[in-house]
Amino acid sequence: MAKITLDGVRHSYPAPRGAEQVWALEEVSQIWEDGGAYALLGPSGCGKTTLLNIISGLLRPTEGRVLFDSEDMTDTATATRQIAQVFQFPVVYDTMTVFDNLAFPLKNRGVTINEITPRVNEIAQMLDLTDSLQQRAAGLTADGKQKISLGRGLVRSDVNAIMFDEPLTVIDPHLKWQLRSKLKQLHQQVGTTMIYVTHDQTEALTFADKVVVMYEGKVVQVGTPQELFETPRHTFVGHFIGSPGMNVLPCESDDDRPHCLGVALGLMEKKLGQEGVLEVGVRPEFVFFDSVGIPVSILKVDDLGRYQVAEVEAHGQRLKMIVPESEVIPSENPCISFDLDRTQLYRNGWLVDSEELS
Ligand code: ADP
Ligand code: MG
Repeated sequence: MAKITLDGVRHSYPAPRGAEQVWALEEVSQIWEDGGAYALLGPSGCGKTTLLNIISGLLRPTEGRVLFDSEDMTDTATATRQIAQVFQFPVVYDTMTVFDNLAFPLKNRGVTINEITPRVNEIAQMLDLTDSLQQRAAGLTADGKQKISLGRGLVRSDVNAIMFDEPLTVIDPHLKWQLRSKLKQLHQQVGTTMIYVTHDQTEALTFADKVVVMYEGKVVQVGTPQELFETPRHTFVGHFIGSPGMNVLPCESDDDRPHCLGVALGLMEKKLGQEGVLEVGVRPEFVFFDSVGIPVSILKVDDLGRYQVAEVEAHGQRLKMIVPESEVIPSENPCISFDLDRTQLYRNGWLVDSEELS
């Protein structure tokens, strides 16, 4: 098993004749520690599959290097990398039995049948495939076939990493939840590096110790679920993670102090300057009704049972706030305040670090 390093990796697919070159991956430098449970989270088209294919060697990056420990693997063949990759849609041999499908990656590498049988049985049991081991794969449902694909990814114990590319897309929601907790359990048992690709924040946050968030070909933040929630480094992370996501509001720098929704926010000790587009980010959890503060009009309140989500408007801007179930929504002259310890400033989308200011 190895630590995997992407060093200055960029990728561009061949552009159609006459078209401008576009970067599917802008620039990724990222270390995947040996034994880590990672989720790679980002919207469709942000470059997740491209990144996995570069790690496994299906793609050679246009620029940059791929290292396993300190060994440069950029130009080595997929087979030598010892990576198990599970794709979005099932890859199974229809004419083979479920057992033979699961045994295939082991047989292929010369593992003896005495070792293969117990291993296949173990994986089959984990995935609830024991009863269908002697059946032909062709007869299985889409769910069943994808479980075989997962099993084929999990069956080898000698791999550097197992990568799952949105593997539960075709799986029924109930089973999805079950399989995800099984993968997590399995990671704890075997300790192999796992990279789990998804565009679903719940999947990412429940599977991973570290979530790598991608946006438009870049890694914008790597952190624990808590870090992503508390201190989004980019407004995209704030918006994408959380339900509802972070409120992102326009902000002006008056006298080098941030002004938002008509009031000065005591956010920065230092001078803010005038450059770039400034925004304030505050999660719905940290906006509350107050006796004084920013006057708002209430547009809508949704009662979600455990809490209420209020949508309010001030200075032409809409924002959402999470209100405890027991709290009565004010009916006259409602005002709101932000928890300033949980309110962030952004410049051109990126978190303004107060250290960097003059
Ligand atoms: P994701 O897996 O996050 O949805 P991809 O890595 O598949 O994203 O794609 C990233 C970008 O690269 C997208 O703009 C996509 O259209 C483009 N792309 C992906 N595969 C190819 C390809 N084989 N040829 C050209 N462009 C591609
Ligand atoms: Mg993809």
